[in-house]
Amino acid sequence: MFTFLGTSAGEQYPGVFCNCGNCSKARELGGRNIRRNSSAILGNHTLLDFGPAIANQLDAFGHSFLTIDTLLVTHAHEDHFFPWYLRWRLFPEDQTTNPQGYEKGPTFTKPLPLTIYGSERVRELTLQAIKHDEKNHHLEVVVLEPWKQYTAKHVRFVPLVANHDFRQDCYNFVIEYQGKAMLYAVDTAWFLPEAMEFLKGYTFDLVVMEGTFGFNEQHDYKAPGHCNFLANRKAREWMLEENMIQASTPFVITHTGPHHAPPHDECEGLLAKWDLKLAYDGMQVKL
Ligand SMILES: [Zn+2]
Ligand SMILES: [Zn+2]
Repeated sequence: MFTFLGTSAGEQYPGVFCNCGNCSKARELGGRNIRRNSSAILGNHTLLDFGPAIANQLDAFGHSFLTIDTLLVTHAHEDHFFPWYLRWRLFPEDQTTNPQGYEKGPTFTKPLPLTIYGSERVRELTLQAIKHDEKNHHLEVVVLEPWKQYTAKHVRFVPLVANHDFRQDCYNFVIEYQGKAMLYAVDTAWFLPEAMEFLKGYTFDLVVMEGTFGFNEQHDYKAPGHCNFLANRKAREWMLEENMIQASTPFVITHTGPHHAPPHDECEGLLAKWDLKLAYDGMQVKL
């Protein structure tokens, strides 16, 4: 099962400091209209991105860090990677599992060893957060090289160079899990030529693509940054033409911003006309 834990762009939905029409309507309606920062989990073990509310998002949908041993990080923008939480994994060698008085903490159960896959920037931020003590935080960081296949504990995956922010390495992922293939294209503008060539070798069972700029058709989705729904529609058409997906393959849009698309209840139907499925926090897709 693939579960969306968060489906908003950086400012969240409603925007944290905004009370415009879309934001106030989302607050009024609640439920699926409220989106937190972009994140997803495959099964109960492989997490995609680690934003500022990740602990609450896991709790909200029946998950927890206790079963997660793999973290794939798309890029080090703070809405996708907020490594501060990692310090709470500290469990020194001489720590006991039964706290008596003033123990060292902060955790009293030995955390499941975690492998973090991400860019050099992700590695630096992780090491800063855990004061360079990987051993006692029971984690390791694997710095990714694009276009190379990795075998993680539960999935095989390839990082593709995203068309996002060239001041740091940003990746989209092709993930293979239990004989199924998915594309996780968050964050990115329109695919780079190398990515298009690479993707043609696959048939996908699920495509997840970001749609930050929604109905804003003035937005230049080919320039590095983000997609709008027009780019999402064109991507689906292209993938259908190239037989990378079928008409029935779920093509799901996430990472939507409040100022380019109405709240979920209204937006969902508008996207359905183009066979795009709008994700919401907690949405599950069977893989
Ligand atoms: Zn983002
Ligand atoms: Zn970003």
